[in-house]
Amino acid sequence: MAAPELIVGIDLGTTFSLIAYVDEGGPQVIRDENGDGRVPSVLAVTPQPDGPPRVTIGWEARRHAVENARSTVYSVKRLIGKSLADLQAELPFLSYAVTAGPRDTVQVEIGGRRYTPEEISACILRELRDRAERHLGRAVRKAVITVPAYFDDAQRQATRDAGQAAGLEVVRIVNEPTAAALAYGLGVRGASGATPAAGVIPLPLPGCGTRAGDAAPGSQTVAVYDLGGGTFDISVLRIEAGVFQVLSTAGDTRLGGDDFDRALIGLVGDEIGRAHGLSISSPATKQALRTLAERVKIRLSEHAAAEFELDLGRDRVYRRTVTRAEFEQLTAPLVERTLALCAQALKDAGLTPADVQQAILVGGSTRIPYVRQRVAEFFGRPAYTALNPDEVVALGAAIQASILAGQRPDMLLLDVTPLSLGIETLGGAMGKLILRNTTIPCRATEMFTTFVDGQTAIQFTVLQGERELAADCRRLGQFELRDLPPMPAGLPKVEVEFLIDANGILNVTARELRSGRQAGIQIVPNRGLTRAEVERMTRESLVQARADIDAHRRIDLRNQVAFDTHKTEQMLAKVGDRLPPAERERIVADIAALRRLADEAADLDALHQALTAFGHRTLRLAELGISAALREESGAGGPPGGAG
Ligand code: ADP
Ligand code: MG
Repeated sequence: MAAPELIVGIDLGTTFSLIAYVDEGGPQVIRDENGDGRVPSVLAVTPQPDGPPRVTIGWEARRHAVENARSTVYSVKRLIGKSLADLQAELPFLSYAVTAGPRDTVQVEIGGRRYTPEEISACILRELRDRAERHLGRAVRKAVITVPAYFDDAQRQATRDAGQAAGLEVVRIVNEPTAAALAYGLGVRGASGATPAAGVIPLPLPGCGTRAGDAAPGSQTVAVYDLGGGTFDISVLRIEAGVFQVLSTAGDTRLGGDDFDRALIGLVGDEIGRAHGLSISSPATKQALRTLAERVKIRLSEHAAAEFELDLGRDRVYRRTVTRAEFEQLTAPLVERTLALCAQALKDAGLTPADVQQAILVGGSTRIPYVRQRVAEFFGRPAYTALNPDEVVALGAAIQASILAGQRPDMLLLDVTPLSLGIETLGGAMGKLILRNTTIPCRATEMFTTFVDGQTAIQFTVLQGERELAADCRRLGQFELRDLPPMPAGLPKVEVEFLIDANGILNVTARELRSGRQAGIQIVPNRGLTRAEVERMTRESLVQARADIDAHRRIDLRNQVAFDTHKTEQMLAKVGDRLPPAERERIVADIAALRRLADEAADLDALHQALTAFGHRTLRLAELGISAALREESGAGGPPGGAG
């Protein structure tokens, strides 16, 4: 059989561009040596004393932007397929020269030479193509390229031309929101005819939570909220039988992450002005401030506060801590503007937020927690965030490409869970919550507690697989439940919920019921999973079944020994002096012996028996402990040994 034709997927972005392809493990973004998939959509031209000017693309060009403002071209996507008349509002924002070209087009002028937007885009596309060829070790000739849903025919044609100039046959131009939906597997079943793994009985796809309303059964309405570096787009899609229809779009070509940076720059600039009478005017200082602002912003997406320091020279230092709350207050008007545009797009489609079954977040700026929170409030449900928001569009473009290449996306788009899902429990065991072959959508919950006194944080690791030990399962993700009030071991009540929706997206939530604290993670469990891997993991679990069960039992017994001996020591400290000294000594010896046995753990039945015997032999002590605890609770607790 011939190898399937290779078609790559390209997200040609305003600020960043990415290239991706599909292999057995599903869609993959091609990354650089630092693990970054993004190539800045920036081109710099540096004149050379001898010979033609040097053209650089990507990070290097971006770094040169400060010194070479007039010979660095960024945001060329704003120019493509447009006339000078179209761009009147745009021009004041660009630091490079834009002039009229033939047939109502524009050109960028650098160092006396003119470049068309298509040529500049072609340079970026060629850079991406080179990256893919280096990574894949084969020629890349065909691509799917994404464009915003609102791009008109001229802009789409110009994007095609850019592809061609980069030596690529543009097999299809795809809307960015459509690609984002494809990345989450929406509409892929109908389009690809993907068949379930062997041995899995196909079940009819549930109605995906369709509401009584105008969406036909089996169709879904999806909102794609894309907040990038400089632009905001909201698109409302209807997906039915693998067909994507754009119902409406709205947006603002001057609203994005840069504005969040500017809000911080404004704050810092004002304060420096007031405190030191300085105003920031030099381009280099402005650029430094911009870089700092972006760093602070990104830090605040992860932390509650960000601290920084600026050396202003002559012993003047500006030191500041910005809290997340402060940043949110500062940028709330920006977020509200995006929501007003969401309302506009819905109105244009004749819909309300309740008609939207799913909101998908795209663009780096959707990592801002307040953006996520407000979007969830607007649509009345948490949005899809499981995939990297920088990469969603490229991943979807790759999926579209693989469908066009006739490559069966081996991504396991199933109506059942192909492997069990669970969390890692103490000692490295796999605690399954959802068993393999469970029909989706589905939900499972389980109660957990702590094993250490005063524990204020619990780490959760989400696992996939059939084996009993965490180490033998796939690790899908991790999160931490923090800020728990300190409580004795065993007292916290932590409910862990696994919820898989009709699109196969897993939401894991951990909630401590006494304090109400909660945390969670969203995951696409089958991402990167191949049929071959499912079969291997299932086969291994059968072969290893006996050993696995023993291993799991060993972990459980050891946990129990650790817990029981610890509790016994605590009781000895508290009420031990009410026991005859000989008995006390015997219990101390028993604890040591039991721990030694658990460490060796040769014979599990023997360990189990020893644990039971230990329980019997410490019964008297346990009774004393409980009585003391009860007396304390009723307020009658005297000093230990005082009575009885
Ligand atoms: P575009 O689609 O416009 O090419 P992206 O979707 O890549 O751009 O978004 C880039 C923007 O995302 C930048 O403004 C960047 O500062 C912002 N960004 C990236 N990561 C984070 C983060 N962790 N928190 C907040 N903003 C972020
Ligand atoms: Mg984008």
